[in-house]
Amino acid sequence: NSGGGGHDNSFLKIPTINFTKLFINGHFVHSISGRTFETIDPRTEEVIARVSEGDKEDIDIAVKAAREAFDSGPWPRLPGSERAKILMKWAELIEENIEELAALDTIDGGKLHFFNKAVEIPSATNALRYYAGAADKIHGDVLKMNGEFHAYTLLEPVGVVGHIIPWNAPSLTFFIKVSPSLAAGCTMVLKPAEQTPLSALFYAHLAKLAGIPDGVLNVVPGFGPTAGAAISSHMDIDAVSFTGSIEVGREVMQAAARSNLKPVSLELGGKSPLIIFDDADIDKAAELALFGILFNKGEVCVASSRVFVQEGIYDEFEKKLVEKAKSWVVGDPFDPKSQQGPQADKNQLEQILSYIEHGKKEGATLLTGGNKVGNKGYYIQPTIFSNVKENMIIAQDEIFGPVLSLMKFKTMEEAIKSANNTKYGLAAGIVTKNIDRANTVSRSIRAGVVWINCYFTIGSDVPFGGYKMSGFGRDLGMEALHKYLQVKSVVTPIHNSPW
Ligand code: ADP
Repeated sequence: NSGGGGHDNSFLKIPTINFTKLFINGHFVHSISGRTFETIDPRTEEVIARVSEGDKEDIDIAVKAAREAFDSGPWPRLPGSERAKILMKWAELIEENIEELAALDTIDGGKLHFFNKAVEIPSATNALRYYAGAADKIHGDVLKMNGEFHAYTLLEPVGVVGHIIPWNAPSLTFFIKVSPSLAAGCTMVLKPAEQTPLSALFYAHLAKLAGIPDGVLNVVPGFGPTAGAAISSHMDIDAVSFTGSIEVGREVMQAAARSNLKPVSLELGGKSPLIIFDDADIDKAAELALFGILFNKGEVCVASSRVFVQEGIYDEFEKKLVEKAKSWVVGDPFDPKSQQGPQADKNQLEQILSYIEHGKKEGATLLTGGNKVGNKGYYIQPTIFSNVKENMIIAQDEIFGPVLSLMKFKTMEEAIKSANNTKYGLAAGIVTKNIDRANTVSRSIRAGVVWINCYFTIGSDVPFGGYKMSGFGRDLGMEALHKYLQVKSVVTPIHNSPW
């Protein structure tokens, strides 16, 4: 590995940070407590800004604003086509500011700047436009009841929505939550992750410029157990959409149950298998496997963290994979040559390194990597373990870092069984030219997304979410729109109405 985090100061590009307060009812305001928290540049370990820290009282004020905007404001009452125009305008404003937005996600979360600009933020604006296009196509059904009655359904916005999002994809997760709920006519309070609050506040500013009425979109940065818990337990929030860890997902669901029984949807990460059969192009398959684990430094809920390779090609595959991992460039995420930036925060760095120690202790073979890179910044070497047993901690826990477990299999049946040997069920990948294998495996894997001869291909119109403990409910696609709508049935007699 080349690189070395933070040695070269020529890539220190700190953008101007204009928005660090809570965005409530169309205005940037201090938190009631007056407290702020630091947000840290993972490249330098230095403080880049202090952000207002929202807590329960701030969430209460934000919910009141959202409630009023829902109960008597224009947003839910606008024709869908009018909401669409505003959302389209917002997408344009984001594109005009993409350089700066991309830089905010880089200094806040260590993400590659070119990637933010070329892929993540464009995917976010695609989602915004996709749901803008859907806003005037939301309708119920006409039903033919038995007897002399006529019925129809109305799809109504669910009300005030709470969104709690993570730090690994601050822009994409913001828009996969906010876009369908806005298109549906909901109002909302969103809490970005404490590690990455900056782009969300900038998006809020642009939302106001685009014409989203005050109170419709409130963004309250803060910590999970305080601001986050205030959302999940709020009596006046009608639904919660959460992306994060299993532990917190469980808390969110419990808080929702204990308060007002609001529906929740949970996207909770994974331990996704990538199965490579012996008819694969070995070189390309090794590239895909490496990309599957190292993309966004492994801080991806669908990372291909368990790679199963058929025995006939195993040795050659392993050799190629290790060669490629050794030439993978770890370095400053503003440097266009870098392929991997620093992990998002210190906690992540330490957790990943401790998982690597577990792997060694449990007897897996460390083929490459395993260490921190440089003395400044949270950079980690691409790390590959072989001789991994299915029940080892590194094969079971979501590491959320650039650490891959390589395993060998003989038959398709064995691969299916091993791939399903996890509490998670978010995504899976298959590499083969054999259509029968591809069909059989894709139907046998218990996961919400299966990629055949590709990986990470996420589209606005393709539902995304988990089986098993990866959660329930779907982001993206028309499925996501329905999380933010509820069905009302209206029934009336056809003739002889007594009134
Ligand atoms: P990760 O493990 O990926 O950091 P978390 O599940 O801890 O993810 O966090 C995801 C989001 O959930 C963040 O915005 C975080 O602040 C929030 N969060 C953490 N704890 C709670 C909680 N008890 N209630 C609600 N939200 C929380």
